Amino acid sequence: MSLFRNFFIALSNSSYLNETARKLGPRMGANKVVAGNTIEQLIDTIEYLNDKNIEVTVDNLGEFVGTEALATQAKNEILEVMQAIKDYNVDAHMSVKLSSLGGEFDTELAYQNLREILLKADEFDKMHINIDTEKYDSLQQIIKVLDRLKGEFRNVGTVIQAYLYDGLDLIDRYPELRLRLVKGAYKEDESIAYQTKEEIDANYIKIIEKRLLNAKNFTSIATHDDKIINHVKQFVKDNNIEKDAFEFQMLYGFRSELAEEIAHQGDHFTVYVPYGNDWFGYFMRRLAERPQNLALAYQEFVSTETLKKVGLTSVIGLGALAAISGAVKFFRR
Ligand SMILES: Cc1cc2nc3c(=O)[nH]c(=O)nc-3n(C[C@H](O)[C@H](O)[C@H](O)COP(=O)(O)OP(=O)(O)OC[C@H]3O[C@@H](n4cnc5c(N)ncnc54)[C@H](O)[C@@H]3O)c2cc1C
Repeated sequence: MSLFRNFFIALSNSSYLNETARKLGPRMGANKVVAGNTIEQLIDTIEYLNDKNIEVTVDNLGEFVGTEALATQAKNEILEVMQAIKDYNVDAHMSVKLSSLGGEFDTELAYQNLREILLKADEFDKMHINIDTEKYDSLQQIIKVLDRLKGEFRNVGTVIQAYLYDGLDLIDRYPELRLRLVKGAYKEDESIAYQTKEEIDANYIKIIEKRLLNAKNFTSIATHDDKIINHVKQFVKDNNIEKDAFEFQMLYGFRSELAEEIAHQGDHFTVYVPYGNDWFGYFMRRLAERPQNLALAYQEFVSTETLKKVGLTSVIGLGALAAISGAVKFFRR
């Protein structure tokens, strides 16, 4: 399993593949997990979900932002989405990555870009702005930026990754901020992160329970894992935790029926909706998480014609293609 995980994580980290894919718009089944690349497509998706009592957090996709111009462009795109959320009066907020705002080469630039976004969010009914967590290398940067911003803004929050040994302590650092709790999506070394599903799940439960008992702000439990969801439902009941204190979150395109069912039952629910041209890295991380997600890509991914069209064949190579095909067949049994 970790062979496939490593393989897709490696693809997600390829700037060449990301750049090639960016030119084409969502392909290979990614259109099932990315809400298109125009504001109109995004708003249609938000309206569809809002109709089902589901809020949206929008991720303006952006990978490999290595210049100030690209960071400024990403910030402007985020401001444009926020304006559209206001103009169309839909129920949505933003999830942003410091790396897309310049964080990979200039922390001050990322801070200033994020501050500008938060100032605009203040004008839009204090729209919530979540800082997504990325690889462990960038965690200290997020903490530094958040610690500077949290005195000035209350509508900013971040994500705690349960695979990190530090995860449980980080909960105590931000009781007053809105937090999203996740298992963690990147490949991290065993010196900093749990490696097995059992260890990660156990730490995730500890983090969720500690947070729900001590939080002074809203908590988002972001998982597709029904065992965890059922555990949380029982825990909030046993501890008289108000429905308005927490929500569940899932990624767009995953377990939609379960998401709608939970929202229908009256729990707060938010779907994370990625949008834009930078779909490749995001999509590869989803495949790394759960090889069954390959079923999404099956029809197109195994077609060499598609790969030729997007110019990936030479890079991925026939060996890798065979591995993907094999994985698809194995997991579809
Ligand atoms: C809204 C949201 C925001 C996120 N933000 C971040 C972030 O900022 N930083 C970060 O590092 N990670 C983030 N993640 C990703 C997260 O860390 C995990 O990598 C991802 O959610 C997969 O873990 P899981 O909790 O869904 O459970 P998994 O351990 O992947 O799955 C557990 C079980 O759930 C069931 N299941 C899972 N998916 C499906 C499916 N599609 N269909 C049917 N059953 C399924 C299966 O029974 C499976 O065994 C986010 C995830 C979500 C949902």
